[in-house]
Amino acid sequence: ENAQLKDIIAHAKEYGFVYPSSEIYDGLQAVYDYGAYGVELKNNLKRLWWETMTRLNENIVGIDAAIFMHPTTWKASGHVDSFNDPMIDNKDSKKRYRADVLIEDKAAAYENAGDKERAQELLNAMGRLLEAEDLAGVRDLIVNEAIKCPISGTSNWTDVRQFNLMFSTQVGSVAEDASTIYLRPETAQGIFVNFLNVQKTARMKVPFGIAQIGKAFRNEIVARQFIFRMREFEQMEMQFFVRPGTELDWYKQWAETRMKWHKALGIPEEKLRRHDHEKLAHYANAAMDIEYQFPFGFKEVEGIHSRTDFDLKSHQEFSKKKQQYFDPEINQNYIPYVIETSIGADRLFLMTLCNAYVDEEVEGKQRTYLKFHPAIAPVKAAILPLTKKDGLPEKAHEIVEALKYDFNIIYEEAASIGKRYTRQDLIGTPFCIAVDHQTLEDNTVTIRHRDTTEQERVAIADLHGRLAEACSF
Ligand code: ATP
Repeated sequence: ENAQLKDIIAHAKEYGFVYPSSEIYDGLQAVYDYGAYGVELKNNLKRLWWETMTRLNENIVGIDAAIFMHPTTWKASGHVDSFNDPMIDNKDSKKRYRADVLIEDKAAAYENAGDKERAQELLNAMGRLLEAEDLAGVRDLIVNEAIKCPISGTSNWTDVRQFNLMFSTQVGSVAEDASTIYLRPETAQGIFVNFLNVQKTARMKVPFGIAQIGKAFRNEIVARQFIFRMREFEQMEMQFFVRPGTELDWYKQWAETRMKWHKALGIPEEKLRRHDHEKLAHYANAAMDIEYQFPFGFKEVEGIHSRTDFDLKSHQEFSKKKQQYFDPEINQNYIPYVIETSIGADRLFLMTLCNAYVDEEVEGKQRTYLKFHPAIAPVKAAILPLTKKDGLPEKAHEIVEALKYDFNIIYEEAASIGKRYTRQDLIGTPFCIAVDHQTLEDNTVTIRHRDTTEQERVAIADLHGRLAEACSF
């Protein structure tokens, strides 16, 4: 793993953002827990997404569907039959790999060596083999390309097998009655099966959207790159139902809207890239990803897909319940088409963390800080009395009381003021508010700004307004 990612992972653990799951038992691969500041950051990101979807758009409402769904859901969606990754094992190291990832890495190596054409040829060849479900051909391709296991250094590979990514479990207390159900691998299906419930009860008219935030589970074969690829993660998905024939206009519009959202979060334009899919999933008639330049390269953060009427039509077939909408404007019944925006909360978290992480040398001294946009920073302000006596702590507590109902505030009186500033830099607090002897005389404090370390004198009465303005998105 790359050096900068290593630093970020270490920082995330040391300063209360992300820990490996059940760490005292040496962790559980590809599962992570969020700490005191991590959960604040994640909640802020989720809230921001939720509010931009459901509040800024009159025609988008939310739902919260269960993780467990009727097993037929996953037959209708195609997940039982085709939510597979091709896997291959190295016989010497006994390590398991995703065959498509091995090929992608090889293609990337060709591209890095300046051979774009060969890279593309390889990807095309792989695409054709997977489409034809020619798994023996996939193995031959890996062997012919002399792809070696990074651990054993050999190309002694097993056959390629398809591996379904869904986790399953049993419901029912008696073994004979128990039936297999799945942990949802995406939140989208909870929206599709509730399409008519929501449309009728929230009295929505096409075009309209349904948004949801919730956990999803995938038994990923290769778990790597920290919280980029997890087995338990959170998705934020919005399905936008439109009149057939208008879907590509809406697709274009959502692609632009979502890209703007990422820029508004403070992600620089040059670190974002749009990747249009050439090979489309069976249900899509257009698809693209928004990619961010992670320390390990440009990778997908969000997908925007034009899913046609595939899901609703399939649910209509399997459930035998009409999934049609009557459009009063054109006096017609139809199954709406769907544009989907789908983003992982954890991947968004990782992008935000990578983008915020600054480790720089200032006048010969190393300085590390997290430059989060104040709207998503875990802690908005730290209130710091200069000393523990002379009534400064009491004054500082008055300020905490005035702000804590609207902002996440920290009070800290231990250690020197410089040390306390550094500590706040490390968790990305945008403002440090110092209470000193002058405060007792004129009710002013100093605000120290995280990014510039500059300080200014401000009236206590103005603090609320200043924070509110800085923390707006
Ligand atoms: P990938 O190609 O990276 O596996 P995908 O194309 O399968 O992703 P989608 O099924 O479109 O991803 O899921 C939508 C979003 O959910 C992704 O853009 C990503 O942000 C997030 N996501 C998907 N799988 C994971 C995972 N294993 N861990 C964390 N986030 C994930």
